Formats: sequence, structure tokens, C-alpha cells
Amino acid sequence: MKTALDLSRKPDLPAARRPLAGLSMSALQAEMVGLGVDPKKAPMRARQLRRWLHHFGTRDFAGMTDIGKALRTQLAETYHLDRPDITEHKVSADGTQKWLIRFQPGVEGESVFIPAVSKTGALCVSSQVGCTLNCTFCHTGTQKLVRNLTAQEIVSQILIARDGLSEWPATTEDRSLSNIVFMGMGEPLYNLDNVAEAIDTLSDGEGISISRRRITVSTAGVAPKIPELGARTGAMLAISLHAVRDDLRSEIVPINRKYDLQTLFEAIRAYPDLSNARRVTFEYVMLKGVNDSLAEARDLVRLLRGVPAKINLIPFNPWPGSPYACSDWETIEAFAEVVKRAGYASPIRTPRGRDIFAACGQLRSESIRTSAADRRRASQTA
Ligand code: SAH
Repeated sequence: MKTALDLSRKPDLPAARRPLAGLSMSALQAEMVGLGVDPKKAPMRARQLRRWLHHFGTRDFAGMTDIGKALRTQLAETYHLDRPDITEHKVSADGTQKWLIRFQPGVEGESVFIPAVSKTGALCVSSQVGCTLNCTFCHTGTQKLVRNLTAQEIVSQILIARDGLSEWPATTEDRSLSNIVFMGMGEPLYNLDNVAEAIDTLSDGEGISISRRRITVSTAGVAPKIPELGARTGAMLAISLHAVRDDLRSEIVPINRKYDLQTLFEAIRAYPDLSNARRVTFEYVMLKGVNDSLAEARDLVRLLRGVPAKINLIPFNPWPGSPYACSDWETIEAFAEVVKRAGYASPIRTPRGRDIFAACGQLRSESIRTSAADRRRASQTA
């Protein structure tokens, strides 16, 4: 204990200092108690730190004017306010931005900011580096799991994007980073403790302030964890469906062998608070000649009956060595037409940021759904 403290106090050993930003309220309190703050005062200190770190995005302890000088000095000796290293940052002509982040040597993940046509936009974040699921169309599926990201590392992706977009303080009006989607690397429900803790921090109205209704967690179908996700986070649910029959889904989304469509849909129906205002998003990647027939479009509509649902048809984004091709545009449109006639609006996601993703993995396929309203607005202002 003593040795650790002594080490962190040596100014020539900055690596011993730990990052402070991105910690949850309970973690901040525990850190303050560990630092010797009176446990009765720790909640107040945590609230002060939250305001500086997550509302103002402060990068310097000296600026934390409501914290006494002695404690500020102690904080600066024990912690740092650096973000994880950004090894690559690219901005696309269409406004899409990608950050490749090194959380520690050998542990790199990506986040992507996708602006909508209107002022809002979504940040797509990773929950793990690598993945265990092996979905056959997904590039991350070819990579081994390196490890789960911590709650702090997940939150740091949002802090980095806010820095890049110059959106401090975290005001609630006019932010372009308005939504968060857990659709980057990894399976969030295999890292649910950290994802739930991160969502607590992200949705904290006194801090980063992105409401739970604007946070979407996407899963390949870890059925037993789906209702728990809703109960613990209040986040919106997205399901990577991609097939409407068990035989095909077991082939392209192998977790289906463990939790088949019936088990998956029982879990989805048990998601808390589903309603027309709170729908489940179903992602469906369009694979040429594999899952894109009109019969499958009709089966999709049938399968979703009774579930408040949105559908996103995602043009497949090929990667070197991928065994699939993207469905033809006419096929996608015909598929979309069947879905549309069943009452689901504007379901095709247009690929974004293609120009900056030339060398990267799964996230090159990130895309955004432009709604009919957005398209109307765009054509009116054009
Ligand atoms: N494991 C979670 C979250 C990560 S994948 C899940 O499966 O939902 C998030 C989404 O990325 C998936 O729904 C899939 O539609 C999409 N995706 C992955 N690889 C893709 C590719 N090559 N082309 C298009 N979409 C892809």
C-alpha cells in the first residue's frame, strides 16, 4: 500500500498515475476514499469531479476551482486527465469521423461518429476488442477476443469524440453527438457489467448527459441477457437478426445454435417497456443470394408481428476475403418495398464514410439510416 503511494508520488514515474475521467460516480467515490478523503465528504467530491470531468471536459486539475489546493495537488500526483492514445483519426468528406484508440499496447478499438442530415449524430462505440462470436459476414468475427473494455474505456470513446467535435460543456441543446450505439467491435451482452456501468455514466444528467433513450445496445442474440439489459440500463435494444430461419441464421450468426429464433424472440418480448415509442431495432444485412429473397422479406414481416419494431436493412460491406457480396440495389429496394408495405418506413441504411474506412475492419460498414423526413429536409435546403 505504502509502496504504491510512494511510487505514484515520484514525478519521474508518470505512468503510475491512473486516468480519472470516465469513472462512474461510485468508482469516483471509492477513489476519493482511497485517497484519504473523509468518506462522508467523498460523495460531494465525486460530484465536483463529475462536473469538471464529464460536464466541462476539463483536462487540468488546476482549473478545478471549487476543490482545495491541497486536494488538487494530491489528485494531480495520483491521477492524470489524458485520454487514451489516438493512433488514427480520419474525417470523411460526408462528416463521418473515425478514431482508432489504443487503450493499452496491443489493445486497440475503433469508434465512429456518424452525423445525420439534421444536426444530430450517433457515435458507434466498441464494447470489446475482438469478439468471440464468429458471425461469417463480420470482419471482427475473424479476430480473436483480446479483452473486454472497462466501463471507463467505453466512456473514454465518448470523451474523445466530444473533444474532437468541440462539444464541451455537455449542454443538452444543439449537440451533434446526440446518440450512442453499441454497434462497434464486440458483443456488449458478453460484457454487460461494464456496459451497464458505462451507460450509467453516459446518461448521468449532471455529467455527459446523453439520455438512456438515446443509447442503443446491439446484440447478436445473447437471449438470457436481453431482459437484464433492459432492466439494468433502460437502453434501447437492437438485434442483429440477418436471417429469418434457424438453419440459415445458425450458419451466419452461429450464436443462434445456442439460442434459436424462438428463444431469442421470447427474450425480446420480455424486454421491459416495449411500445410504439420504444421499438426494437432489427438489423438485417443484405447478402446477395443468401438472405435477400422476397419470400424472406415476407417471413421477416411475419416474424416481427406483435413486436414493436424498426427495421434497418444494411447493405453488406465486403472486406478482403469475405465470402459474400452485397445484394443488388434493385433486390434491396424490392425487399424494402415488402417491409414498407407492412408499415415500416425508410429502412435502408446508406453507407457513410466509405472514403476513410479503406483499410479498417468492421466499422467501415457503419452506415446511417436517412429517414424520409431527413431526405425531404435535405432536398428542401439543397
Ligand atoms: N455484437 C453486436 C454488436 C456489433 S455488430 C451485434 O452483433 O449486434 C453491429 C452490426 O454491425 C451488426 O448488426 C451487423 O449488421 C453489422 N455488420 C458487421 N459486419 C458487417 C458488414 N461486413 N457489412 C454490414 N454490416 C455489418
